[in-house]
Amino acid sequence: MKIFEQIESEVQSYARSFPRVFHRAKGEFLYDEDGNEYLDFLAGAGTLNYGHNNPLFKAKLLEYIDNDGITHGLDMHTRAKGNFLEAFNENILKPRGLDYVMQFTGPTGTNAVEAALKLARNVTGRENVISFTNGFHGVTLGALAATGNSHHRGASGVCLNGTSRLPYDGYLGQDFDTTAYLDKVLSDSSSGVDKPAAAIVETVQGEGGINVASAQWLRNLAEVCKKHGVLLIVDDIQAGCGRTGTYFSFEEAGIEPDMVTLSKSLGGYGLPFAVVLFRPELDHWKPGEHNGTFRGNNFAFVTAQAAIDHYWSDDAFSREILRKGEYMTRRLEAIVEQHGEGNFTARGRGMFQGINCVNGDIAASITSRAFTKGLIIETSGAEDHVVKFLCPLVISDDNLKKGIDIVEQAIRETCAGEDSIPEEFDYFETPRLAS
Ligand SMILES: *Cc1c(COP(=O)(O)O)cnc(C)c1O
Repeated sequence: MKIFEQIESEVQSYARSFPRVFHRAKGEFLYDEDGNEYLDFLAGAGTLNYGHNNPLFKAKLLEYIDNDGITHGLDMHTRAKGNFLEAFNENILKPRGLDYVMQFTGPTGTNAVEAALKLARNVTGRENVISFTNGFHGVTLGALAATGNSHHRGASGVCLNGTSRLPYDGYLGQDFDTTAYLDKVLSDSSSGVDKPAAAIVETVQGEGGINVASAQWLRNLAEVCKKHGVLLIVDDIQAGCGRTGTYFSFEEAGIEPDMVTLSKSLGGYGLPFAVVLFRPELDHWKPGEHNGTFRGNNFAFVTAQAAIDHYWSDDAFSREILRKGEYMTRRLEAIVEQHGEGNFTARGRGMFQGINCVNGDIAASITSRAFTKGLIIETSGAEDHVVKFLCPLVISDDNLKKGIDIVEQAIRETCAGEDSIPEEFDYFETPRLAS
């Protein structure tokens, strides 16, 4: 459609990878204007863990709208918000023995990250924050300073201050525990790393290329933070809400972060919603000190509550994710072994998985070919070299298999050097940009 080229900014990214006009969606499927069906292995970059237009949430939302429920509530108490808080407390916090208060921030992930960083700095009176290589935390200035990606950082236009970058797990090889390095620099007053307020980390780096921190590394990180009086913030915006198999991605490691950010799939239905959780003792906010007009997206409270009530009141869903995740691991391992020419590797945890193709052009060829076969799947990582599998957690076994089969076929064709993708898929004149 010409209008997108005429008046929509060049900043578009995903639209370049999937040059179609989409019109409808259901479960794990998207449909374009011409009625073509696509399996969605991008799922709103991890926002649609429960699928598109989940019928259970849709019914609740329609009923709520029909009864003239509150749409926008600033931060006022509403029944929808109270019901969400109760569901979250009963089904998420209490069974895990987690004692957190919840701050409602503006509705996107980066808003939650900004609030967490600001609170950590205010509570400790320190400015510096430790963040990790290849970490992604959002693109507003505070969060961007903690983000590694140079493509995003380069657009800031001002100095990105207040963070020190440390190597993530595995960055210096599997035998090097980078938390030992963190411990060392925090113990040395001349290391040049100022004593930090907090360390912010993803347990699995989504945008950074599906880099998985080991449970032991996370425990070591938590210990080093505790030893030095540094707050630990887990950014669970993409890895949380069940993606790795448990509600919070840090449960496997048995750690209790001081703060947790959640967004993306929190609202369940794809509605914007973000929060920060933190230990009650850290709640130094004065009323209204940090605010935001859209902290009260009550539609999202309704669907978030429905998601928690339906999927998280016992561990059945969790077991399903782990079962499908194991299938994905088996398939991806087999694919890299068979077609990867010794270069490709499979990585991930739960249903948060990827194939590292080493080279961004190869990964792009694979995802473009997959698209011509009806599969929407993206890349991530520094060179966009990792094919990232993020299908809805509720996907059927058949469609999970089908999607992976398509990627396998696309890899086979790419590695065999078959003819390049049809020109009709070259929709933008400008080169394909990193997402
Ligand atoms: C997506 C993401 C963010 C930013 O969320 P936005 O809603 O895009 O602002 C922050 N952290 C992580 C780990 C993310 O995946």
